[in-house]
Amino acid sequence: LWITLEGGDGSGKTTQAGLLAEWMQQRGRTVLRTREPGGSEVGVLIRDIVLHHRGDIAPRAEALLYAADRAHHVATVVRPALARGEIVIQDRYLDSSVAYQGAGRVLDAIEVRDLSLWATEGALPDLTVLLDLDPSTARRRLDAEDKPFDRLEAEREDFHARVRSAYLALAAAEPQRFLVVDASLDPDDIAVLIRARMSVIV
Ligand code: C5P
Ligand code: MG
Repeated sequence: LWITLEGGDGSGKTTQAGLLAEWMQQRGRTVLRTREPGGSEVGVLIRDIVLHHRGDIAPRAEALLYAADRAHHVATVVRPALARGEIVIQDRYLDSSVAYQGAGRVLDAIEVRDLSLWATEGALPDLTVLLDLDPSTARRRLDAEDKPFDRLEAEREDFHARVRSAYLALAAAEPQRFLVVDASLDPDDIAVLIRARMSVIV
């Protein structure tokens, strides 16, 4: 079983991934927590480029770097864990690329999605939780944290607004894969909503 968490920066993906993993483990399941970019050793190197390179990266080069991270991650981490019968709970997957490299960087959404599907031989999660939050609330949350500089988090508000709309469009197009949750809710209440949906599929 493979669950991905999506949403803008500051929407609480990591918190919810942690809560969900804990809950599944309490129910006796073996859980692999992972993320993109950076869920493999190669991925950590790619993550450093896409997040910490000071200066622009050509949009298509950036899209290919994310796709390379994804290809290696799915082949060496996700598929083996699924084959062992583990539950994979993952921060970000191909919907991030459609939203960020597609809508954010204004590349063609279908091309970006096809690139990811090529990279992963068509791997799609069983459930994708979209934590939906308006960018100004997300910005306030991020400003309240004292974190190291992330290239993308410095993007202007309209970038993040495009990312949000793209995510909502993806969820609307694939309602059977997506659960959309209001990320301004209390984290514990969000966790309850995610568990309710999980009970249906596990
Ligand atoms: O979710 P996480 O904090 O690990 O994401 C790191 C950064 O990479 C975020 O600022 C996010 O906006 C960006 N990102 C991106 N395209 C992706 C995945 C992440 O621009 N496909
Ligand atoms: Mg972040």
